[in-house]
Amino acid sequence: MKLIVKCKKCRNNIELKNSVNDRAELARERGNEFNLKCDECSIENKYHVNDVKANESNCENRKQSMGNRYLV
Ligand SMILES: [Zn+2]
Repeated sequence: MKLIVKCKKCRNNIELKNSVNDRAELARERGNEFNLKCDECSIENKYHVNDVKANESNCENRKQSMGNRYLV
């Protein structure tokens, strides 16, 4: 399962590179808050573990990010 965070700037889905299975494990590894840089807009923001979503379907994810791009 992949963990993703939605970029605060461009709403791109940033995939977490950590090999963790869930948010609890992520919090243990990186703390409750951590900095992430978006691949799309190169803006670094601070995110909370609660911002992290589990991404089970890549296909669905791609559709969603495309839809969001229209909204911006
Ligand atoms: Zn971004």
